[in-house]
Amino acid sequence: MQNGKKTYYIKTFGCAMNYSDSERIKFLMEKIGFKQMKKSTDADVVILNSCSIRQQAEDKVIGWGQNLRIKGNKYKDKKQKIILTGCMATRFNRNLSNNVDTQLKQRKLLKRQMPWLDEIIEISEINKLPSLLGTKQFEKDDLANENINIRSFNSNNVIGLFPISTGCDNFCSYCIVPYTRGRLTNYPEEMIISAVREFINQGGKLVTLIGQNVNSWKSKDGKRDFVDLLNELIKIEGDFWINFISSNPMDFTDRLCHLIATDPHFIKSVNLAVQSGSDRILKLMNRRYEAIDFLNIVRTIKNKYPDFRITTDIIVGFPGEEKSDFDATLKLLKDADIDMVYLGKFSPRKGTVASRYKETLSLQEKKNRENLVYDLINEIRIKHNKKYIGKEVDVLITGGRRGISYFNHEVVLNNSASKKEIGQIVRKKVVEATRAGLVLE
Ligand code: SF4
Repeated sequence: MQNGKKTYYIKTFGCAMNYSDSERIKFLMEKIGFKQMKKSTDADVVILNSCSIRQQAEDKVIGWGQNLRIKGNKYKDKKQKIILTGCMATRFNRNLSNNVDTQLKQRKLLKRQMPWLDEIIEISEINKLPSLLGTKQFEKDDLANENINIRSFNSNNVIGLFPISTGCDNFCSYCIVPYTRGRLTNYPEEMIISAVREFINQGGKLVTLIGQNVNSWKSKDGKRDFVDLLNELIKIEGDFWINFISSNPMDFTDRLCHLIATDPHFIKSVNLAVQSGSDRILKLMNRRYEAIDFLNIVRTIKNKYPDFRITTDIIVGFPGEEKSDFDATLKLLKDADIDMVYLGKFSPRKGTVASRYKETLSLQEKKNRENLVYDLINEIRIKHNKKYIGKEVDVLITGGRRGISYFNHEVVLNNSASKKEIGQIVRKKVVEATRAGLVLE
C-alpha cells in the first residue's frame, strides 16, 4: 500500500506484442485504483507477462519469479501476490485437458516449477484481472473497446506501439504462437487509424505497427490489405515515421515493397523473418516460401532504395539441418546483404510439430553455427554503418543523448540534445560508427 492505494509492479518478457499487452494491463490496473511501483519488492501485486518462445525464455521467467519470492520474503510481508500471464499462462492452461489425471499431472508440474505463483490468467481473459484482485468489474462494452483500441507509448510519448492483429494461422512447425495466442484476429481499420491519428495529434513521431505477421493484416470483409491500411495512415497530417514488425515473406507483396521504399513516412529498414536459407529446411518448418522469394523481395526493395536496411530472424540447428543447409543460410544472408539477425538456436516447444522431429545437432554444434552467423553479420553491419560517417542523417531524439535514425539505427549523441530537440526529428552528422549503431555529433 502507498498512501492508502494498493500497488503493483509489472515485469514484461519477450516480444513487442507482450510490451503492448503490458500497456493494456497497466491501463486496467490504474483504472481499478492500483499505483505502479518502480521496484517489485514494494508492490502488493506482481504481474509477470511471460514469453514461451523458447525453453530459455520460460527459464528466465521462472528464475525471475523465484528470485522475487526470496527477496519478497526477506524485505516485505509474504502477502505479495504473484500473477502469471502472457504466453506461459496460455500454454499451461491449454495443457489442462479435460482429462482429470492430465490436469492433476499438469498442476503438479506447474506447482513444482513455480511454487511461488498465486494466480494464472490468460492474456485473452485479462479483463478478469479486476475481479481476480477482488475489485470492481468493468462494463462489458468498455472492455471490448479497451481490449482492442490500445496504443502504448514509451515514457516520452514519441514512440507508439500499435497492435493491428493478434495470433497466427500459419502453424510454422517450430512455433508455439498459434497455440499460445490463438488464431489470427485482425483489428478493425477504423480503430487503428483513429488510435494512430490521436497519437500523432498528441506529438507522436514513430508509429510502430505490430502483429505476429503484421503484413498479413486484412479488413474484416477481406477486401482491404496491409498496403491499403498503410495508405490510409500516410494521409494523416504531421511529421512522423512508420515502422512495422514482424513481417513474413509469404505476404510481402510488390506493392508493399514499392510503398515502403518510395514513401518518406516509412523508416528505411524492415525486418523480414526468413528463418533459413535452405528450401528443404523451410519446407520442414512449414514456412511456405523459398529462399529465392525472400531474396527477390530484398532485391525489389533495394533496387528502389539501395541503402534500405534489411534485418531478419534465423533459427540455427533445426532438426535435420545439414552443413549444406546451414551454408545456404550463410549464403543467403550474404547475398541479401543482411544488416542484423535476430538469432535463435532451435529448441523444441512441446505441442508443436517440430517437437516430434529427432534432433540431429549437439548444443555445441548449434552454438558454433550461431557464432558463424554472428561473425558474418557483424562484418556486414560495421561495413554498412561506416558508410554513414561524415554524412547527415535524420534522427528522432528520444532522450538527452539517445535517438533512432531514419534507418532504424540506435544512435548516441556526443553532445546532449537541447530540450527543444527531444521528441523531434532533427538532422545530425554521423561522427562514428560502431557495431551497435551510430554516434552523432
Ligand atoms: S508465422 Fe510462423 S513463426 Fe510466425 S507466429 Fe505464425 S506460426 Fe509462429
